[in-house]
Amino acid sequence: MKKLTVPITGISAFLLLAGLAFAAAESRGVEHGQRYDRLVIRNVLVIDGKGTPARGPLDVVVEANRIAAVRGADPRPEAYAKDAHVLDGAGMYLLPGFINSHIHLHDERAGVAQPFEYEHKIYLACGVTTVRDVGTDAKKALAERRKSQEGSIVAPRIYVYLVAGGRTPEEGRKAVRSVKEQGADGVKIFGLDRDVMEAVVDEATTLGLKVAHHIGVEETDARDAAAFGVDTIEHWYGIPDAALKGSQNFPPSYNYNNESDRFRWAGRLWREADPHKLKDILEEMAEKGVGWIPTFSTYEACRDMTRARNLPWFKDYLHPTLEAYFAPSPERHGAFSWGWSTEDEIAWKDNYRIWMKAVRDFADMGGVVGAGDDAGFIYTLYGFTFLSELELLQEAGFHPIDVIQCATGNNAKLMGLEGELGRVRQGFLADLILIDENPLANLKYLYPTGVLDIRDGKPVVRGGIKWTIKDGIVYSTPALMQDVKDMVKTARAERSGK
Ligand SMILES: [Zn+2]
Repeated sequence: MKKLTVPITGISAFLLLAGLAFAAAESRGVEHGQRYDRLVIRNVLVIDGKGTPARGPLDVVVEANRIAAVRGADPRPEAYAKDAHVLDGAGMYLLPGFINSHIHLHDERAGVAQPFEYEHKIYLACGVTTVRDVGTDAKKALAERRKSQEGSIVAPRIYVYLVAGGRTPEEGRKAVRSVKEQGADGVKIFGLDRDVMEAVVDEATTLGLKVAHHIGVEETDARDAAAFGVDTIEHWYGIPDAALKGSQNFPPSYNYNNESDRFRWAGRLWREADPHKLKDILEEMAEKGVGWIPTFSTYEACRDMTRARNLPWFKDYLHPTLEAYFAPSPERHGAFSWGWSTEDEIAWKDNYRIWMKAVRDFADMGGVVGAGDDAGFIYTLYGFTFLSELELLQEAGFHPIDVIQCATGNNAKLMGLEGELGRVRQGFLADLILIDENPLANLKYLYPTGVLDIRDGKPVVRGGIKWTIKDGIVYSTPALMQDVKDMVKTARAERSGK
């Protein structure tokens, strides 16, 4: 049979699909944790990271850590007969690996140990092949980045943004130069006085460092982020703040450093924003190229605390260190949930409605929205929460194709990596996800715990990513999750034995 090289239209599409039925190539020679000189993924439907529809069947050839070819599927049974490493993608979907724009590498919580391996493996199993760490122990983060680059640890690609600040503009500039000297990929800022922020962003821009602004309730707001040229706004506070008439309507007893106050009243902020002023500030952000990583999922507990405390994946996959960290306490960040009320949840649900509309409006104005989970706080578990973020973007009005773009192409763009990450494209780095259900039909298929369904009257679990490929290294996601489960089991046994 002659190889089909004609464009995929009309009859040829029929031939290709008919070919698919009998090609039935089986997978061979692919092992967990290996990288190959040449790996072929056959007959797969591709969902790219640029907002275009699924297309296929295609064959994707990976050579070492690069995508060497993306082309129409060769339906001949004997095609690739000489290849030792083949994944049969018939009926499966291939996506670019997800980029998680807002994480913190944790090897401890409140001083109690928790291995990096735990976080790394869940992220990979949830399809996250790149993370952007926005604030952690610099030395450790840079060491993990190096090990990930070498392939000596099982982990996503790591980009490190280090915190820079100071009490004076000169201190701020000095801090940025130190970030540069340490070899970081960017700068993370928060809580700065306006003159210091201006100096820090200016110095970072001069040195070619990206700036991520964790915007809080502080002197500066989104207007300053736009004016100074910040690359991304993390979270949201300073956006409605920029649309207020005067300051926030907090009660007299409010203390920003009291997290119970902070998170309770944050839930009443968006409704205070003047819609006209809000539209102006969103336009300004879009125009100046300030991206937005809303991290919807970080705050999801606020609108349903009971649900957040009882997520089904906690049973097998919640590390006891993290479990203890989540428990309500004024001592720990994000552990503010004591005394949380029905009224607080109603306020937060309302907050989300306005916030989600603002994110959707921002995207409509041409603003770039990215996805990040900021997990490890407020009952959010690494990776699982990133997938919740995708669901929340859909809730905000993004089509699932656009949601996937936020998590891949958009994040790559915001990090200045759009030339080699976030796409299934020839020449790009081989970071890929392979799943046997259509995530556009249901984003929940992406969770390692899958979707509970009924087939022939019997309960079945569908979905879960099957393979995550990072830098050409192929990982079986069930194997990764088994490791995580074992780690959690051992840690729990150790704690209860003490
Ligand atoms: Zn964070």
